[in-house]
Amino acid sequence: MIAVPITASTAGQAVKDAERAHRIAELVELRLDLIKDIGKDRLNEVMPDKPGRAIVTDRKNRAGIIEEAIRLKAGFVDIDICRGKKEVSRIIKGKGKTKIIVSYHNFKKTDEKELIKKYEEIKGLKPDVIKIASFANSIMDNLPIFRLIKRAKKEKRKIIALCMGEKGKISRILSVPFGAELTFGSLEEGKESAPGQIPACTLIDRYRVNELKDPKVFGLAGNPVGHSKGMVIHNKAFEKLGMNSIYVNFLVEDIGRFIDAYKGMISGLSITIPFKTEIVKYLDRVDATAESIGAVNTVVKENGKLMGHNTDAAGAIKAIEEKTGIEGKEVLMVGAGGAAKAIGYGIIQNKGKLTIANRTESKAKKLAGDLGHGSEGIGINVIGKLEGVDIVINATSIGMFPDTERSPIEKGVMKKIIGRKTVVFDAVYNPRETMLLKMAAKLGCKTVSGYEMFINQAEEQFRMFTGKRASLKGTEA
Ligand code: NAP
Repeated sequence: MIAVPITASTAGQAVKDAERAHRIAELVELRLDLIKDIGKDRLNEVMPDKPGRAIVTDRKNRAGIIEEAIRLKAGFVDIDICRGKKEVSRIIKGKGKTKIIVSYHNFKKTDEKELIKKYEEIKGLKPDVIKIASFANSIMDNLPIFRLIKRAKKEKRKIIALCMGEKGKISRILSVPFGAELTFGSLEEGKESAPGQIPACTLIDRYRVNELKDPKVFGLAGNPVGHSKGMVIHNKAFEKLGMNSIYVNFLVEDIGRFIDAYKGMISGLSITIPFKTEIVKYLDRVDATAESIGAVNTVVKENGKLMGHNTDAAGAIKAIEEKTGIEGKEVLMVGAGGAAKAIGYGIIQNKGKLTIANRTESKAKKLAGDLGHGSEGIGINVIGKLEGVDIVINATSIGMFPDTERSPIEKGVMKKIIGRKTVVFDAVYNPRETMLLKMAAKLGCKTVSGYEMFINQAEEQFRMFTGKRASLKGTEA
């Protein structure tokens, strides 16, 4: 189930918000401590028509309020264990048909020992539901929460368990599919009652938290991860194919610790900045392509072993080949970072003649040396001496949001170096039409967007994750 917290500060607004929330989710959580203009005497004004669909909470722990909610037949009331065991027991005794949630909150940290102690303490009071919420300072803090859910399941106890904060978001998504009673989702962005809360619509539509049961877990490991569209397209494909699988964003600080701790839980991963190279040493094996590139963007668990792959090279080459063949072509690639390694590898495999230009010239020379086959490395400032370039590739981050007015190659230089049928490919995919591509189109070049590469590599990744093919184009919206 999903509960939508009502964060309105007036009774009138709370009623309106609760009506909207009930159209989306099974339950609303009435946060009485946030509604300024009512006390226990006017509680009936905010109780929904079907009080069974309300969780009543008063974080100010005011005397008599919870008892009044029970009298008004609220479906659930939430009492914080900080009120003391005696007081909680007294309320439980007089609960009538209302279900009692006894909760523990730690707004600063997640300490597994403490959480287990509180879980046992609350369990001893025999409430209908145990609630444990703690603040995640690291992605690792979600694991004690998942273990608590497992423990409660084994002991046949009903539990709500989650981590608060940006780094706890995965617990808000995964707790219900893992067996928790409910998770909280905001009515809309800006109406969160706690940090890291995700809109209820997103929990329902994107993550299908009410439909999945012990799903296979996939995700993106990186830092940052918020910009990625992976969780949109992979989840849509899982839904379309009716798969009990989910894809979430893992905001990771230490990839070694993350892999060690999450290895048992995950079935596959996409890997992004800054871990594509570092991850290699934590995997059981990498395939020949990933080994040659020296970077992994896809991890798949096969028979308990983690296998590294790289779908970036194939994704880029497929995108370029929609517009031109590569064999024997003069190719200029600007950039010598992670994306350049994969794209450069693809160009060499397809027998292109590669020149790499980079701001840090030594990196261009090093990559050219590694790729071999006559590749050359030059400084970005001497691109203008080239001519008759058949394929121009931007593999730098220049032109990427928010610096969308920038181009890695100036117009005057571009005019000099291109031929009559030059194809220009920009690995940057946010925005789809970069400054470089706009300029190239005006100069009569054919253009290829980084979006094409992104979709191609994601489709290949999906096939590796699931053994199934899915068309992901246009599903990111
Ligand atoms: P990276 O490893 O950090 O490399 C960044 C590259 O850009 C380096 O060559 C760096 O030069 C250069 N650079 C950065 N800022 C610059 C500036 N102000 N002036 C000149 N050069 C600059 O990043 P990456 O992983 O390769 O990613 C590069 C781009 O490719 C990003 O926009 C990323 O989103 C995109 N990408 C797209 C896809 C896709 O599927 N379409 C896949 C992967 C990556 P120095 O060596 O001198 O620092």
